[in-house]
Amino acid sequence: MLGQLLSLILLLLLGAFAGHQLLQSDPLGPCAGMFLVCISWCLFDQYKIKNVLKWLRDTELEPNREIVAKGVGGYIKIIDRVVRLQRALKRINADNVLRLNDFLSAIQVSPNGVLLLDSESRIEWCNQTAAYQLGIDMKKDVMQLIANLVRDPIFSNYLKHYETQKEIVIQSRDSRPEIPRMISLQLFPYGEGRRLLLSRDITQFEQAEVMRRDFVANVSHEIRTPLTVLAGFVETLLTLPVSDEERQRYLELMSTQATRMQTLVNDLLTLSKLEGSPVPSKTEWTPVMVLWRQCNQEALSLSQLLSLHPSQQIKFEWLLEDEKCEVAGSRNELFSAMTNLVSNAVRYTPEGGTINVSLTQLLTGDIEFTVNDSGPGIAPEHIPRLTERFYRIDRSRSRDSGGTGLGLAIVKHVAQRHDSLLSISSQLGKGSTFSIRIPSERLRKSTTEPAGLV
Ligand code: ADP
Repeated sequence: MLGQLLSLILLLLLGAFAGHQLLQSDPLGPCAGMFLVCISWCLFDQYKIKNVLKWLRDTELEPNREIVAKGVGGYIKIIDRVVRLQRALKRINADNVLRLNDFLSAIQVSPNGVLLLDSESRIEWCNQTAAYQLGIDMKKDVMQLIANLVRDPIFSNYLKHYETQKEIVIQSRDSRPEIPRMISLQLFPYGEGRRLLLSRDITQFEQAEVMRRDFVANVSHEIRTPLTVLAGFVETLLTLPVSDEERQRYLELMSTQATRMQTLVNDLLTLSKLEGSPVPSKTEWTPVMVLWRQCNQEALSLSQLLSLHPSQQIKFEWLLEDEKCEVAGSRNELFSAMTNLVSNAVRYTPEGGTINVSLTQLLTGDIEFTVNDSGPGIAPEHIPRLTERFYRIDRSRSRDSGGTGLGLAIVKHVAQRHDSLLSISSQLGKGSTFSIRIPSERLRKSTTEPAGLV
């Protein structure tokens, strides 16, 4: 700055001297010289400012300092400062873009849908989940009215009269009658008239809710029937004069109903324990021989209980391949699963039928507990649903034989908790086969004679 001032003073002095020399007779000569210097200085300054403005206007890229410096004189300092500012701004901008991209990527992977609406309810942006759930194509549908794309009347009404914190539930775009899918939507206002729309797939939640309602209805129904019978007999015994024989018969029927309720409650407790307790450890070892013998006794006593004529009793065939094998897991759970399969076979196989029970070793090192019967068999459409709670093919038959509809649900749970697989195969009229395959990781050979054998 000082240098510029000194240069100007020097040029003015030179101009005055030159004016005096050229116009010696005229006293205004020095003034004219200085005037010309001022005009030239201003013009040159204008030229430099023009170059600076040109650079500011044209340059997008970082300037070549050497070239720029030629036509701008002292203004190069301003240019240097601008360049520094420009670089700092670029850095900040790049940081912001990076953070924005991170933020958008995080919202993209969210399992919930996020959609931004402007004040006119036009789509400004949405993540992939929202696009999928609502059927939006982000290439074509940006700035489209959301009401034109999501045509559910519940949603259209909600868009007009929405209340904060209140959500609505509509069918998802890919919902089908056989596989209904539901999504919940909720609007939140932000900025100047803008709105954020959050979408959430609640199909599983809805299914769980339906299952819960069904379960409560089933349990109530199962308990109400024997309770009604019991109440009826109690009422009869209290109010009517009955003979000793009748009293005895009524008491026996009441006892059957009470046992039925007891079995149901026991099965429910078993299921709830299976669902609520930690997975059985792999440190508790049970000899398969112990399970095998308990199973054997259960099957024979149940078969004797159900058969009227000893001559027509069910024939059993037992095959235990490896007597020295031990299984890691809960002894009670494994026993309950195995006896459930055997008792089902006994209950559904008509008198004179055959039941084969085997525990065989597979080439993979796993073992398979199989119960095969010559009963009525199961139609293929029922097989995938047999392990659902209270699913029964023939309700009255199941009840008459003391079934609760929970047996196979218990078996499936126990199998899962022991990393094992329950498989069912059957042919109508030809019998059924139920197997539990226990993986080799849960097996070992015992070195001693199994304890607890009877
Ligand atoms: P339940 O107590 O009614 O036997 P389960 O869960 O054990 O309940 O079995 C569900 C249904 O599967 C039964 O109601 C029955 O219809 C069918 N089922 C189970 N085991 C057999 C079998 N061995 N033979 C034929 N049907 C069977």
